[in-house]
Amino acid sequence: MSKKALITGISGQDGSYLAQYLLKEGYKVFGLERRSASNDSFRLKYLDIYSDVEIFNIDLIEHASIIKLISLNQFDEIYNLAAQSFVGDSWDNAISTSEINSIGVVNILDSIRQFSSHTKFYQASTSEMFGMVQATPQNENTPFYPRSPYGVSKLYSHWITINYRESFKLHSCSGILFNHESPLRGIQFVTKKIINGLCNFLNNKQSIRLGNLDAKRDWGFAGDYVKAMHLMLKQKSPDDYVIGTGIETSVRDFCSIALNKLELKHTWTGSGLNEKCILEKDKSTIIEVSPQFFRPAEVNSLLADTTKAKEILGWESETSLDELIDLMINYELKMTNN
Ligand code: NAP
Ligand code: GDP
Repeated sequence: MSKKALITGISGQDGSYLAQYLLKEGYKVFGLERRSASNDSFRLKYLDIYSDVEIFNIDLIEHASIIKLISLNQFDEIYNLAAQSFVGDSWDNAISTSEINSIGVVNILDSIRQFSSHTKFYQASTSEMFGMVQATPQNENTPFYPRSPYGVSKLYSHWITINYRESFKLHSCSGILFNHESPLRGIQFVTKKIINGLCNFLNNKQSIRLGNLDAKRDWGFAGDYVKAMHLMLKQKSPDDYVIGTGIETSVRDFCSIALNKLELKHTWTGSGLNEKCILEKDKSTIIEVSPQFFRPAEVNSLLADTTKAKEILGWESETSLDELIDLMINYELKMTNN
């Protein structure tokens, strides 16, 4: 009989790729989507798997509904990907971010503990927990120092996942994933905003406004990272793993790579809030800096040390940043030309 997996946040970026991956692995895939969901499952539809998954309209923080769902269905695996996932919004929405990202996780863990203790659990932890990094690169032993309500909320859920594993012997794992992107990334995130903005510029000539161009991230491809989630749950013993590429790139350099791919010759001029990216052809501004997109506290640099994932899971990032940007540009050009 097929194994049953529940994915919370199934209509998000990772949820959609994970659903596609698990379906290929022969799983029966169920998903959680709140009724007020901000998208119309366009990612599941784009991947052509919408009719292959069964969706429950339940909010992660509805405790009684989560208990009922988990006790009735006795899932083999639960992947908790639902979250208020945008760091930038978390200062203005600190309470709802904490409710969803922290309390939502205990809702699931406690339901598993009481009614379905054989269920394996995956928690979507994040490199944002390293925040003001205490060592570079970061691995499973690096101390945490979150820098946003998002990072703090995720640190709680990371530790409660470990605590339920140690206290109640649950098979609960936490994947500390560094930034991962795809054509299906949310539009608020910087990579998608850049690729979408540059591709639109070809038609509308509207410049893009960004925040901190010096921030560096370890960007990988979401399609590679969902495999790591599954590999974690397949191990005999539950554990936590850092997942990333081991290469970091600044926001500015990410822009330049994309600009070059679109054959937009450019130069960067000025500094700080006056920095601009100018097109050589007609001296028009294509990227400018705006204080609106700076954060109250910034994470300047994140870089993964994935030695443990390589050794134990046999997992490595397969898609280079160059290939990832190609994927994102091709999708965006296809969408803008339709
Ligand atoms: P995403 O695209 O924002 O997906 C998150 C999903 O959770 C959305 O579909 C959202 O639905 C849903 N959700 C939010 N609140 C909910 C609630 N109360 N009840 C039920 N569903 C709810 O994020 P992602 O990039 O796929 O990331 C997946 C997970 O990995 C998140 O937990 C994120 O924090 C974590 N993570 C992501 C990265 C990354 O770089 N992508 C890195 C590390 C960790 P709505 O449409 O209704 O908002
Ligand atoms: P995060 O690492 O989860 O916060 O992912 P984001 O894609 O939202 O941001 C990555 C980095 O890009 C952060 O250091 C941001 O401060 C920086 N950044 C610079 N300009 C922008 C922008 O306009 N939007 C976003 N989202 N981030 C920006």
